[in-house]
This record gives sequence, structure tokens and C-alpha cells, in this order.
Amino acid sequence: MDDCIFCKIINKEIPADFVHEDEKCIAIKDINPKATTHLLILPKKHIASVIELEEGDEKIAGHLIKMAKDIASKLGLKGYKLQINVGKDGGQEVFHLHLHLLSQFA
Ligand code: 5GP
Ligand code: ZN
Repeated sequence: MDDCIFCKIINKEIPADFVHEDEKCIAIKDINPKATTHLLILPKKHIASVIELEEGDEKIAGHLIKMAKDIASKLGLKGYKLQINVGKDGGQEVFHLHLHLLSQFA
């Protein structure tokens, strides 16, 4: 998607603080953190939101949660919240699926 800011980050067209990258997803620091640790985990495939998930995307969606767990464990976070805002009325501002990882711990 040409006008998607997260696709541009994935394609390294605009910078971001990467904490993880693999064949299916990336994890970056949120530019406007709302917790001591605030990461965004997003699939490399452009999926606008949970509403647009298609048959076959289950692996990608599951992978985001598994990566959240692995990253949190690597960072030694004792506890954290995972959040997905869905749709404009659900508080979603960037229309490329992403999982927020929020923690009071660093
Ligand atoms: P949403 O409300 O869509 O669930 O969350 C979008 C998140 O993306 C917000 O927390 C916002 O701070 C973050 N964000 C927006 N633009 C950028 C950007 O260019 N880089 C990074 N790293 N985060 C961004
Ligand atoms: Zn995108």
C-alpha cells in the first residue's frame, strides 16, 4: 500500500526503532509511547485491520501474539498488556493491523 505509513516503515522508506524483524512481522517502538514500554508488532502483509482479516491470515495473527510473548520475555517484562484497536470507532488511527505491547516495566 503506497500511502501506508507502516508499510513504509516495513520497507525502510521511513525510519523507526526496530526491536524485532522476521519474515512475517516487525516490532517497533511507538513514536508516542503511552507506557514505559510501548511497542507495536505488525505483519509485513498489509492488512488494514482485524475487520479485514481473511481466510489464511490466522497464522499471521497468531504469530503477532507469539512474537509479543517472545519479545516481552527477551526484555524481561514482568507483565504487560496486548491491545488491538479495531476500526475508527475502536480508536484505530493507523490502518495497518498492529498489536500494542504496553508495559509499566522497561
Ligand atoms: P492505533 O490508534 O492505530 O491503534 O495506534 C497507532 C499507533 O501508532 C499510535 O500509538 C501512534 O503513536 C503510533 N504511530 C503513528 N505513526 C507512527 C510512526 O510513524 N512511527 C511509529 N513508530 N509509531 C507511529
Ligand atoms: Zn500497510
